[in-house]
Amino acid sequence: MTAPLTRRAALPLLALLAASPARARAQAPPRPVVVASFSILGDMVRQIAGEDVVLRVLAGPETDAHAFQPRPSEAEAIRGAALVVRNGLGFEPWLDRLLRSTGHQGPVVTASEGITPRRADQAGGHGHGPDPHCWQDLGLAQSYARRIGEALALVEPTRAAAWREAASGYAARLAALDAWVRERIATVPPERRVVVTSHDAFGYFAAAYGVRFLAPQGASAGAQPSAAQVAALIRQIRAAGISAVFIEGPGSQAVMQRLARDAGVTVRGRLYADTLSAPDGPAPGFEAMVRHNLGLLVPAMRGEPG
Ligand SMILES: [Zn+2]
Repeated sequence: MTAPLTRRAALPLLALLAASPARARAQAPPRPVVVASFSILGDMVRQIAGEDVVLRVLAGPETDAHAFQPRPSEAEAIRGAALVVRNGLGFEPWLDRLLRSTGHQGPVVTASEGITPRRADQAGGHGHGPDPHCWQDLGLAQSYARRIGEALALVEPTRAAAWREAASGYAARLAALDAWVRERIATVPPERRVVVTSHDAFGYFAAAYGVRFLAPQGASAGAQPSAAQVAALIRQIRAAGISAVFIEGPGSQAVMQRLARDAGVTVRGRLYADTLSAPDGPAPGFEAMVRHNLGLLVPAMRGEPG
């Protein structure tokens, strides 16, 4: 078959493909593709831009973003992206590799930019370097919302005003949620504001809201605690009069169940720190995640039966 014939044969099909979505959408500009590195940032994009963007989330719900392994289809998503939204502070080393390997030249917004990070080892964990989990402080989450809103506005000028307004409304909701968290924590006697969970993701929450977290793992998920670390934690649990521990994140259940058994305390549910739940789970969005966590933490810290 000759080249001119091939081109002619392809034309009617192309025209058909182009015509049907165009009619359905009338004058609407094409929706930009926005890639978010993990589920919490994906929800923030959704809260600001709604259905005006095609959202692709790389490390989706119930996925450990620290240890995420992108598939070839994810590289394809990056190639077509008008904006890539990442956390930064070493949270997604795999994304930097993906951006390099795809040669992505488009805009990348780092949600944590402008924040002075805590050190991971300040929380008593075993990680080093900056602590990436800034969203656990709702003051800093507001900064994420504004930064993502501004990056979206620069990508699509025709929607810039609407997205800036939506970002500011979202930040206001997060400010109200911050006030609610402080009210809830204030109902717990200060000496009882201690929580045991599996991965050290709550350093910013601890600093913002005055709660002490004890964790048998460092700030990077996936590490197994040593016998000596577990023994030290059990001594702390007994000294603080703690009656419950919490599961956090995929894969931590076995560690915490063993710890609870050894320490003679109960496992009081699953906290969400780095990932959202599935849409029908208890933490389908970031705000729902914060409310879910507080709903587990406050009664346990107050010593109410679970
Ligand atoms: Zn984490």
